[in-house]
Amino acid sequence: MGGKARRVEVLRIGHRPGRDPRLTTHLALTARAFGAARMYLEPADGAVSDHLRDVVRRFGGDFRVEGISEWKPLLRKWPGTSLHLTMYGEDLDDVLPSLNLVEPVLVCVGGAKVPPELYELATRNVAVTHQPHSEVAALAITLDRLLGTPRAGPLPGARMEVLPTPRGKRVVEREKGP
Ligand code: SAM
Repeated sequence: MGGKARRVEVLRIGHRPGRDPRLTTHLALTARAFGAARMYLEPADGAVSDHLRDVVRRFGGDFRVEGISEWKPLLRKWPGTSLHLTMYGEDLDDVLPSLNLVEPVLVCVGGAKVPPELYELATRNVAVTHQPHSEVAALAITLDRLLGTPRAGPLPGARMEVLPTPRGKRVVEREKGP
């Protein structure tokens, strides 16, 4: 069946170090929480990579942010399917079911301005609604479609575990990862 993936990685282009660290950090946190294995970040930003390394150390999982200086060679040489998220693309939910995804899948998101080459180099340009919103929202929905809704509970190797509670916060330290 089309539409489901096992390994998904993310490419974020147009990051502006020092100007939008919070948005790019949220993108990386979302990529990790919704099951992506890696996020390529152009240009590199050590602060974002370090932040995510610390989150992985505490909350587990197998995820890292890898800084790159050029995104076009990565996309040109990508061995699997690449999906560029853009409000101008085809509907994600129309495209996915009949798409013969080749692993690994790369999900590409832009910043304030998106270079035209991205539309040409990606396997498909897909939209999550045709309204302008956020790369974080578009990524979360797309990962949910590709990988399924993430399971509740700690990720492998977690040192900290959040225990669901109706009010307040309950976080426990774990002896060793699950
Ligand atoms: N004006 C920009 C453009 O040329 O596409 C929009 C940039 S938007 C602020 C930043 C990113 O959010 C886009 O590159 C895209 O990845 C994502 N995005 C925003 N709305 C989207 C939508 N409706 N569907 C899919 N992705 C979207």
